[in-house]
Amino acid sequence: MALRVNLLVNSSSFYKFTSFVPIRSFSERVSSKPEPSSGPETTADHLIYTREHFALKESLRKIIDQEINPHVDQWEAEGTFPAHKIFKILGSAGFLGVNKPVDSHTLQLVCFRSVSTVLMEYGGLGLDFSYNVAVSEELGNIRCGGVPMAIGVQTDMATPALARFGSAELKKEFLVPSIMGDKVACLGVSEVGAGSDVSSIITKAVQKGDEFVINGGKMWTTNGTQADWMCLLANTSDGPPHRNKSLICLPMNLPGVHIARKIDKIGMKSSDTAEVFFDDVRVPCKNLIGQEGMGFTYQMLQFQEERLWAVANILTTMDTVIQETIQYTRQRKIFKQPVLYHQAVYFRLAELQTEVELLRSLLYRATALYIKGNDVTKLASMAKLKGGRLARELSDSCLQYWGGMGFTSDVLVSRFYRDSRLMSIGGGADEVMLGIIAKYMDTVPRK
Ligand SMILES: Cc1cc2nc3c(=O)[nH]c(=O)nc-3n(C[C@H](O)[C@H](O)[C@H](O)COP(=O)(O)OP(=O)(O)OC[C@H]3O[C@@H](n4cnc5c(N)ncnc54)[C@H](O)[C@@H]3O)c2cc1C
Repeated sequence: MALRVNLLVNSSSFYKFTSFVPIRSFSERVSSKPEPSSGPETTADHLIYTREHFALKESLRKIIDQEINPHVDQWEAEGTFPAHKIFKILGSAGFLGVNKPVDSHTLQLVCFRSVSTVLMEYGGLGLDFSYNVAVSEELGNIRCGGVPMAIGVQTDMATPALARFGSAELKKEFLVPSIMGDKVACLGVSEVGAGSDVSSIITKAVQKGDEFVINGGKMWTTNGTQADWMCLLANTSDGPPHRNKSLICLPMNLPGVHIARKIDKIGMKSSDTAEVFFDDVRVPCKNLIGQEGMGFTYQMLQFQEERLWAVANILTTMDTVIQETIQYTRQRKIFKQPVLYHQAVYFRLAELQTEVELLRSLLYRATALYIKGNDVTKLASMAKLKGGRLARELSDSCLQYWGGMGFTSDVLVSRFYRDSRLMSIGGGADEVMLGIIAKYMDTVPRK
């Protein structure tokens, strides 16, 4: 793989990650500024990360520090961020297609009655999902939840099914530009009347000739006001609810696609969230991802990656919030001693850090099993459940130790308090995770 990565490095921009970035020696590490993360980030014997993972993380950190973090406060205030600009930077450096196919495929095009064979390059790095986890962990260093979430929608929510099941032609039109950062993607699953119960969506795509005619609407669409295309889940037949749905690549500039509103939220401020309506939108049938009727199944598969991605992302922020709480409480004195030195405070922080490490172990175990081809729905659901609950506990406990400062908008802990609340709701609420886990435990009463 090193050779392939080096080739990629030579052929791309400044930020393209390199496999030859030396891992810093232990002595260097202990003498340098402590990393906010308490995880085994730079050890050579990491459970799932190799030198390449660390090189990838290091390159991404440069982009975060130079191109993203300096602007986060402004984007949070504006309620949106320039997705096209940031995705182009990330895409040019390879970060939007880490586990997407790189392989050449032959695409048969019928032109003027003759069939020509074209070599297709998808532009991904062709790495396994553990690299997505590494990227997601690193994106947790962005000082808000909205921007990483928008990136995660592009890489691990709207595109996995297309990469896995889409036709070569469809990949060329939607996947390649999404990997390169030329197109912004969004995911259209949730509706006004259907979130937790995905099977009850009512948006319809009715086949008329060689087109689908789409009517309905989507709610809570992340990137919705900026997206060039949507990975849309719609009912394509009247069959049973788990077999009547399909995923369709829907260009957002088609007549009949209306952005009804940008939703005002308590957190994830820099991420635009839209309500979208479809009024007789006509899409070619070739925009169907994989097989008709398999959309629900594809979406459930896609959820495994989405949930692991979300956990990896929130872990880093939890580490940072603990570290910043330690720094603040160490210098803030109450009753003639630092806040930190009260046993209730440092015991609580020790307990929270322990929980973070437990969650990290679960994430790495689930990831290791997933890249070996196992179904990790149960473990991914457990990790997502625990991630949501721990983020709520941790942000609340840490914010408390900041006193009045924790109640201001000036500190990361208060932003995390607002942003992380979504983890227990979005992408499957805690109760949905409990339902999945219980099904795997075979404890759900049969009807
Ligand atoms: C900021 C944001 C961004 C989002 N981005 C996207 C996106 O890009 N694309 C997309 O498709 N969706 C997106 N969503 C939607 C998100 O996935 C849904 O909000 C989520 O699935 C919950 O659905 P709902 O809001 O309709 O809540 P409901 O389905 O109405 O559920 C309400 C509550 O019921 C409880 N509940 C659920 N199931 C059970 C059960 N079995 N037993 C007991 N209680 C239960 C839970 O506490 C849940 O919170 C986003 C949401 C938000 C807020």
